[in-house]
Amino acid sequence: MDNFSTRNFSNYGKVLSPHVILIRPERRQYLTSNSLLFLGDQTYLLDSGYQYQGDQLKKIRDAIDIDGILFSHYHIDHVFGCHILPESKKMIHEEEVDALRSFDNFIQFCFKDQTISSQQWNIWKLRFKNLLKREGINDWSDLRLDNVITFGSNENIDLGATQLQILHLPGHSPGHCGVYETENQILFIGDIDLSGKFGPWYGWWNSELDTFKKSVEYVIDFVSRNEISRIVSSHTHDVSKEEGMHLLNNFLHPFDEREQQIKTYITQKRTGVTLKQITDQSIIYQGKQSDPPYVREYFEFVHVKKHIEALMKKNEVISEGDKIFST
Ligand SMILES: [Zn+2]
Ligand SMILES: [Zn+2]
Repeated sequence: MDNFSTRNFSNYGKVLSPHVILIRPERRQYLTSNSLLFLGDQTYLLDSGYQYQGDQLKKIRDAIDIDGILFSHYHIDHVFGCHILPESKKMIHEEEVDALRSFDNFIQFCFKDQTISSQQWNIWKLRFKNLLKREGINDWSDLRLDNVITFGSNENIDLGATQLQILHLPGHSPGHCGVYETENQILFIGDIDLSGKFGPWYGWWNSELDTFKKSVEYVIDFVSRNEISRIVSSHTHDVSKEEGMHLLNNFLHPFDEREQQIKTYITQKRTGVTLKQITDQSIIYQGKQSDPPYVREYFEFVHVKKHIEALMKKNEVISEGDKIFST
């Protein structure tokens, strides 16, 4: 890359180190996410976000060549802005590459092992089409993901001046990854979200509750064992190692708290409860609504279902017909 040290990167984002720039959305709102720019012999962007809210990435693209984009995972708020860099090489963890092959693949991927009704199929299809349209995309092929290639769980990407160590942190999604930048010790943890606004999110069928919890525990251990200068998650500002440790420990609590609340509700209703009744308690979203409402209702349902499955595995609840009982 040409003479990057003389450029004023603070015009484009927050300079975290001589090799790492944090690019934040101009306005933080639903579906916006952070990107990181890594500068070395090659320039890599980590996540291209969902950019309808601003022109940040376009300004950066016009100022420097971006050789490659690494996606932390396949979710739209991390990927859909990639169309403004059609020539850059795209990379994602091997477990998620199929999701990016086509529009139909993308939707199917979210519903792993679940039979999906044609009504549900149409609802989600329309939602994603509309989200793509907001980004100015009419067809999946316009995202220019046809050349996407994979990286493995423990891969090292050598940028000369610095190295990027991939950390596979599954659970939120199957191939969700963090990145540790070795020269200046900057840790990116994606949707292990330190904003404190929601807690762990596992609302698609391919999310895994226990795996997610283990990944968070792994990150806590990783932070305690390594030199870290800043920790970056996708939906809030960067934090110090100490603050990050505190926030990561807080992030772990909802896994058990939600389970406990669901269990308490089931125990109180001696005649059994339906999944719908538990979902209506809004234990996960705590009364927050979405526009349209079906989006959060659906995600609430999937979160609850995953907890019920975990409780059934531990023999703490049983199901009879459409009712769930405490054991
Ligand atoms: Zn995500
Ligand atoms: Zn996200």
